[in-house]
Amino acid sequence: MNLKVEARKKNLYIDGQWKESTEHASLTSPYSGDVIAYIPKANEQEVNEAIEAACRAKTVMAKMPAHERAAILERLVALLEKRLDEAAEIIALEAAKPIATAIEEVKRTIQTYKFAAEEAKRIHGETLPLDAAPGGEKRVAYTVREPIGVIGAITPFNFPMNLVAHKVGPAIAAGNTIVLKPASQTPLSAFFLAELLQEAGLPNGALNIITGSGKVVGDKIVTDDRIAAITFTGSPAVGIGIRNKAGLKRVTLELGSNAAVIIDKGIDIDSIINRCVKGAFSFQGQVCISLQRIYIHESLYETFVQKFVEATQQLKIGDPLDPRTDVSALISKGDVERTLEWIHEAKQQGAEVATGGIAKGNILLPTVLLNAESSLKVSCQEVFAPIVIINKVQAVEEAIEQVNDSRYGLQAGIYTDNVHTALTAAENLHVGGVMINDIPTFRLDHMPYGGVKESGVGREGIKYAVEEMTELKLVVFNRN
Ligand code: NAP
Repeated sequence: MNLKVEARKKNLYIDGQWKESTEHASLTSPYSGDVIAYIPKANEQEVNEAIEAACRAKTVMAKMPAHERAAILERLVALLEKRLDEAAEIIALEAAKPIATAIEEVKRTIQTYKFAAEEAKRIHGETLPLDAAPGGEKRVAYTVREPIGVIGAITPFNFPMNLVAHKVGPAIAAGNTIVLKPASQTPLSAFFLAELLQEAGLPNGALNIITGSGKVVGDKIVTDDRIAAITFTGSPAVGIGIRNKAGLKRVTLELGSNAAVIIDKGIDIDSIINRCVKGAFSFQGQVCISLQRIYIHESLYETFVQKFVEATQQLKIGDPLDPRTDVSALISKGDVERTLEWIHEAKQQGAEVATGGIAKGNILLPTVLLNAESSLKVSCQEVFAPIVIINKVQAVEEAIEQVNDSRYGLQAGIYTDNVHTALTAAENLHVGGVMINDIPTFRLDHMPYGGVKESGVGREGIKYAVEEMTELKLVVFNRN
């Protein structure tokens, strides 16, 4: 299938129907600038219709047996496996994600929905020993997990299929309904999902997709009382705003970071170079756990820098649809300008550009910065671009301090051959997940995933997301 064809007008997906909207915005490829589709700009009334549809479908989904919810998700998995190449092409086109990386994303999306299908069958509570307290004699108590209701899901551009899957998968598994607002740059992946779920037999209204500005559509979803829970993945600034407006709704926030790895003395550099390069530059560094900061023992610093720079210079820059491409365009021109300014600031303040540091069109060349102070934007803020800093340290303790000197805390990695050092790092790194002998960028889709500090609140990873999307109810039998 050739998706680089004439621009196509898309519709909103409400109550199982494709609904024409009055206004559209053109969607352009971040790489070529070509118009690839016209996307509806929903107004408040249309968001309202989507919420109404999700409310009407609530009972159908809540009453649906677990095996039927699992079967819908299994059919979705089969359809995605069949249309994997098409799915990857959509991601490459709308997000400028290099096609090889887009294929990896679709494969992970398939895993995510498989985990959701399995998890649908094991949502349960527990029995409680009420006689542990005086007055509890001859009483039987148990808990059940009930669907929370309508979920408002707001997703970012960088994993347009898999991060949508991390919301839609557990929501269906738990018997909820969804109003989804995908990122304005990557709505096509979400519309594609709606097509597949329709074919997989999801009841009308269980999934509704509303596109348009974050401000209009997002605000309505976040403030409407009929929405029981918000699950948001995106930038800290937007996430904090959502939390402030959401009132008593359950809110899960998966936000940004400036993830770091520590490399201890004695590590075999050759065995980790390619892994570190991939962690720093995969999808142009536009990954929430992208490797942004490297703290390496001084004894290895020179060799590491030399080999890292050599490997970085081997990366192929170009068209996301070319299977040989490693690094393509940033998501917007504004991001190219922003990152060039940040590099300029770093240079002004004494950092050295070991490679990169310039842009070719919308592509920022993979950039390695040395000796960047911790107060620089490239260090203390989330760069979300192919930029990595490498700094030398005298000891792991110093590196742990540097890693923790951050507003963020999503994941961190440490390479060490010393088990005591590994355990000390695991204990002292203030993050949601510590990867021993790996980069912070490692994630599988059933891992509990989420951050501390400005990296977020709550956890994803299907089982953990199901907990966030269900209400715990207690039942007590009095047998006295
Ligand atoms: P973003 O600008 O925060 O946008 C995320 C979503 O929020 C989009 O759908 C956006 O819509 C919407 N939005 C914007 N303003 C809103 C408002 N006032 N109310 C409600 N929704 C609003 O983030 P992004 O640039 O797409 O994604 C990059 C960020 O996501 C990075 O910070 C990255 O670290 C983070 N991220 C975190 C994780 C994680 O799991 N922790 C994973 C991936 C990405 P529009 O597109 O229409 O503006």
